[in-house]
Amino acid sequence: MNCPQCGITDVIEIQHTLPDETEVVFFSCHRCEEKWWDRSGETMELRDVLDLVRKPRS
Ligand SMILES: [Zn+2]
Repeated sequence: MNCPQCGITDVIEIQHTLPDETEVVFFSCHRCEEKWWDRSGETMELRDVLDLVRKPRS
């Protein structure tokens, strides 16, 4: 995964499973401090992830 901001390739990558069992990956760039999330290849912003976390189980 490349950083969308500065383009380095060795970004920090941490896998998470949300309470609804959605698997997401958190990326953090140690160079420019960009942070972003990915769900099934789709980039998400932090607020989108928080929406998923807060969404009540149906
Ligand atoms: Zn970067």
